[in-house]
Amino acid sequence: MMSDKVLVYIDQFKGIALPASWELFGAAQALVSLTGGEVVALVVGAESKKVAEEAFQYGPVEVYYGDDLSLTDYRPEPYTAWIVKLAKELSATTIFFPTTTRGRELAAMSAIDLGSGVMPDVGALEVEGGKLVATRPVYAGKLISKVFCEARPQIITTRIRAFKKPEGDPGKKGTPIYKEAVMAEAELQTKVLGYTQAEGGVSLTDANVVVSGGRGVSNNSALTPPAGLDEKQAEIWRAQQGFKLVGELASVLGGAMGASRAAVDAGYIPYSHQVGQTGKVIMPNLYIACGISGAIQHLAGMRTSKVIVAINKDPEAPIFKLARFGVVGDLYAILPALTETFRKRLSK
Ligand SMILES: Cc1cc2nc3c(=O)[nH]c(=O)nc-3n(C[C@H](O)[C@H](O)[C@H](O)COP(=O)(O)OP(=O)(O)OC[C@H]3O[C@@H](n4cnc5c(N)ncnc54)[C@H](O)[C@@H]3O)c2cc1C
Repeated sequence: MMSDKVLVYIDQFKGIALPASWELFGAAQALVSLTGGEVVALVVGAESKKVAEEAFQYGPVEVYYGDDLSLTDYRPEPYTAWIVKLAKELSATTIFFPTTTRGRELAAMSAIDLGSGVMPDVGALEVEGGKLVATRPVYAGKLISKVFCEARPQIITTRIRAFKKPEGDPGKKGTPIYKEAVMAEAELQTKVLGYTQAEGGVSLTDANVVVSGGRGVSNNSALTPPAGLDEKQAEIWRAQQGFKLVGELASVLGGAMGASRAAVDAGYIPYSHQVGQTGKVIMPNLYIACGISGAIQHLAGMRTSKVIVAINKDPEAPIFKLARFGVVGDLYAILPALTETFRKRLSK
């Protein structure tokens, strides 16, 4: 009897896999241990062969890769066509994608082309009455729902950090299998013109520690902005001083800087830092919220962080209900003291 094929899509850029991709092998192994079957990995794009070779250490029986001209740069149509063809050839029963921007897009498009369904943003898997049941948050994380998918292949996107990356065994090696593109370059309507590096250091979604700032970062009347600024410019200037403090703490802790939507909408910081329902959903080990009230839409993006610390002037701020540790006070006084203490302790 042919065993069930559980496919894992490795999201990568120029030969470097996104860390969330390796976590998928943890989820796939958990599934295989519950229902049987074998894990097969897929990787596409420039330098994907390198990633394909690296993937063997996480235990897949086969790894397929493709990097024809039409697959060199990420574009959803040729990538989906490649994945769908392979899923059909292998009679895949399950396909895992990471909950990254590309993973989400490919999961949805593959489901349409395969006539299947997606279980998105899954945090846990179990078997109930012979069916695979996935757990996922709904209503901005206020409720947890259990879902299953009748169609095959069932498509799952996993929450970043919800599944543990397995211990790799560098001794496990294999030969990746090349699969050519399904769509030719001439068939494609879009071209990638180039890439520019986004500002910022550690990626928000991969960071172990995230320090975020909200509207409160602009609230320091003791700061005198340079002459000639109008009211809005002065507010932004103040916020930038506040975000410097947020960024310093993030940097000493080796983490990334996040923000509330209020801070983004007010022009204090770019959208790429936004955490929440309409921003990034993250699950760091430590989340420090500075001058953030704790609106439900913000909590939707960070409520599953392992340890939450809140710094807020208002003892009634809703964020304190969720926080493990709360500091009632002015972030302008508390952040420099915290940064200094961590710098000494961590000798940075
Ligand atoms: C459809 C929809 C989607 C949304 N998506 C998101 C989302 O993705 N992410 C998100 O964050 N929001 C989102 N929002 C907005 C959300 O409802 C809140 O408006 C927003 O989160 C508030 O941001 P904030 O906590 O920074 O600001 P505020 O609610 O204004 O809170 C500022 C806090 O700072 C404190 N403070 C002020 N000065 C200081 C100081 N000096 N020191 C310490 N504390 C201080 C105050 O006590 C207050 O608690 C969404 C809203 C809608 C309707």
